Amino acid sequence: MLRDFRLQPADIPDFQPQHLEASERDFLKSEIRALLRERDAVLVAHYYVDSEIQDLALDTGGCVADSLEMARFGRDNDAETLVVSGVRFMGETAKILSPDKRVLMPTLEAQCSLDLGCPPDAFADFCSENGDRTVVVYANTSAEVKALSDWVVTSSVGTKVVRHLASQGKKVLWAPDQHLGHYIQSTTGADMLLWRGACVVHEEFKHNALLEMKQVYPYAGVLVHPESPAAVIEMADAVGSTSQIIKSAGELPQDMFIVATDRGLFHMLRKRYPGKRFVEAPTAGDGAMCKSCAHCPWMAMNELGALRDSLLSMGNEVFVDPEIGERAMAPLQRMLDFPVN
Ligand code: SF4
Repeated sequence: MLRDFRLQPADIPDFQPQHLEASERDFLKSEIRALLRERDAVLVAHYYVDSEIQDLALDTGGCVADSLEMARFGRDNDAETLVVSGVRFMGETAKILSPDKRVLMPTLEAQCSLDLGCPPDAFADFCSENGDRTVVVYANTSAEVKALSDWVVTSSVGTKVVRHLASQGKKVLWAPDQHLGHYIQSTTGADMLLWRGACVVHEEFKHNALLEMKQVYPYAGVLVHPESPAAVIEMADAVGSTSQIIKSAGELPQDMFIVATDRGLFHMLRKRYPGKRFVEAPTAGDGAMCKSCAHCPWMAMNELGALRDSLLSMGNEVFVDPEIGERAMAPLQRMLDFPVN
C-alpha cells in the first residue's frame, strides 16, 4: 500500500513575519518600484502573498493571479526578469515556460507541502508500478515530478482534463493532493489512483466547526478550495480554484461568505466586492493541529524586505536543469493548449 506522504507538524516552518512600521514599509515599496524599473523586471504575485506585494504587482504592471495565470503572464510579458512572489514550484514553472528569462524569488525557502510530499524518486517508482495509467500531476510539484507526467493541471482545469481523459477510456494516476484528487474523482467518475499528499493549510478546515459557524450565519454562502477535505467541500455553495472563488463571490447572491482557503485571498475578495463580507472558515476544533491556521507559512515568507533584497542583488535566482525543463514543458504545454471553455 502507498505510504502516507503528508507532512507532520514538525515539518512545517514556524515562520514569524518581521514587524515593520508603516514608514519602513512605504520606503521598501518605493525602493522596489525603482528597482523593478531599473532591472527591467516585472512582479508576478500569487493571491496568497502579502497584500502590499499584491498591490505593488498591480500598480507596477505585473499581475496577481493563480499559478496557471502567473505562468502565462510571465511567459507573455516582455520584461527580461520575472520576480515570482509565491512558492518555489511557481518560480520553477515560470522558468520552464520562459527558459531565456531570469527568474528571481524573494526567497528560495518558500516551499509547498504538496511539492515536499511528492519526492521524485518515490513518485517515479509509483509511476513504474502503474504503467497502464495516464499520469496527471497538480502544478504544485517539482520540475522533476512534472517531467515524469503526461499532464500538468491546476485546480482550475484539473476536472476538465480528467473528464476528457476518462471520456477516452483512460485510467488516471493522480498526484500529489489526495483531497483534490478525490474531488475530481467524485465529480468525473474517472478511474483514479491517488497519491497520498495534502496541503497543510486546506487540510485543516474543519467540517463540524463549519457546521456550527453556519448555524451562527445561516445566510452566509460557503466558498471552498478543493484541496480541503471532502466533508468541507460537501458544504460548499461553490468549489474552485482561487480565481474561481473570486468569480463565484461576485456571481452568488449572498452578501456574506465563509471562505475555506488561505486568508491571503481575502485582500482581493474585499477589493473586488467591498459591499460583501468575507470570514475565514474554521481551522480550530476536534482534531486541530494547525500550524498554518489558514495562512500558508511558506507564502508568508514573501516579505517586502526579501523582495527588495532579491531585486537589489539579483539573487535568489531559480534554475531548472534544461533537460528536465524540456521534459516538464510537454505536459505543461498540454494544459496551456487545453480548451477550457
Ligand atoms: S497553501 Fe498549500 S498548496 Fe498552496 S503553497 Fe501553501 S502548502 Fe502549497
